[in-house]
Amino acid sequence: MKKTLADLDLATLRGRTVLVRTDLNVQLEAGRVTDDQRIQASLPTLRMLHGSGARTVVLSHMGRPKGLPNPEYSLAPVAEHLSRLLGTHVTFVREAVGEGGEEAVGALSDGEIALLENTRFFAGETADDPELSATWAGLTDLFVNDAFGAAHREHASTSGLAEAVRERGGEAVAGLLMAREVEYLGNALENPERPFVAILGGAKISGKIDVVEALLPRVDRLLVGGAMANTFFRAMGLGTGDSLVEEDRIAMAAELIATAGHKLVLPTDCVVADEITPEATTRLVGRTDVHKGDHIGDIGSETRDLFHGIVSGARTVVWNGPMGVSEMAPFSRGTVEVAHAVAEACDDGALGVVGGGHSAVAAEQAGVAERLSHVSTGGGASLVLLAGAALPGLDSLSDRE
Ligand code: ADP
Ligand code: MG
Repeated sequence: MKKTLADLDLATLRGRTVLVRTDLNVQLEAGRVTDDQRIQASLPTLRMLHGSGARTVVLSHMGRPKGLPNPEYSLAPVAEHLSRLLGTHVTFVREAVGEGGEEAVGALSDGEIALLENTRFFAGETADDPELSATWAGLTDLFVNDAFGAAHREHASTSGLAEAVRERGGEAVAGLLMAREVEYLGNALENPERPFVAILGGAKISGKIDVVEALLPRVDRLLVGGAMANTFFRAMGLGTGDSLVEEDRIAMAAELIATAGHKLVLPTDCVVADEITPEATTRLVGRTDVHKGDHIGDIGSETRDLFHGIVSGARTVVWNGPMGVSEMAPFSRGTVEVAHAVAEACDDGALGVVGGGHSAVAAEQAGVAERLSHVSTGGGASLVLLAGAALPGLDSLSDRE
């Protein structure tokens, strides 16, 4: 178990400088934040530190400025947005390292929060340069890593900084978001209440093969939808017309079918169209009736019922990836139905966890996000956790005594 912010005696934080790595990697349009989900997710930790009178210094990356300062990727608008959400002024520090930065940090008063400029303005960030980590580590002896979305990376401001702070005798702990993500995604998989059902979808098997392999021995059922299912169809010798298929993964899909046995549940019917467009006219066909020129865009009605039924009886559900091209109305029904099925299972007391950017958006659009046990904020990191692999951002933290 890793030490978390909740393990600390908050009374000891007053007047203490605390360095926090969050994931404020949001999209900007004309200098404005468009989707602030990640900023929202960072609030519990920042509120706790603000309330305890800590002098909080926040680090985050945004976009891919490739190691050079670039005004397009400045966190200045994020500092403003954060100020509004927190209801307290967040000081923006343009000089994220060096004397100017140190001075700004030294001038903080109790309870004040400062946001330093984009960590990726330094080439050392993604190169995991220990010198860059040491510059930040010099500011304090307490580091809080709350950037779950970046936890699968070894960067100077994440795992590198945790190591640097600990080497100097300080502590590195998980923030509230990081702790919550790990609790739901990690621990729930360790000891799931059964039946344990996983639902995987999305475009490609290749990005999720480790997840499939890690989940198969643990789950009671693995439901596969989305374009991922097409590659399995081909492995079964079925035609997929002009649908998205990963030709170089067909053999792998065949192996998975052979080893998974009855655990693996594939769609029995599909929604097809001549083209995948928002205005497409669709047809419902059995999986053996997909013809030349057809594009599979969603799971069919029989599959919706089948998946719904299996999810209904589950006590633990993990869902990653849409069942079809969920961003286009004619192909969104399968995903919406799965979202509702998971929410209903949660209403009945099951643990239901959703990971992945597209799936999270789909759950939100289906209006069920609030009923789910947990919606992960980290796409890549949640897949790594589900695959049972190591997260450097987490492993680098201090152990709980
Ligand atoms: P998540 O973000 O939830 O992890 P992915 O990014 O893996 O999900 O997959 C989402 C993408 O998969 C979407 O862009 C969606 O359009 C695409 N997709 C799902 N099913 C199909 C399909 N049958 N044909 C083409 N694309 C599909
Ligand atoms: Mg995605």
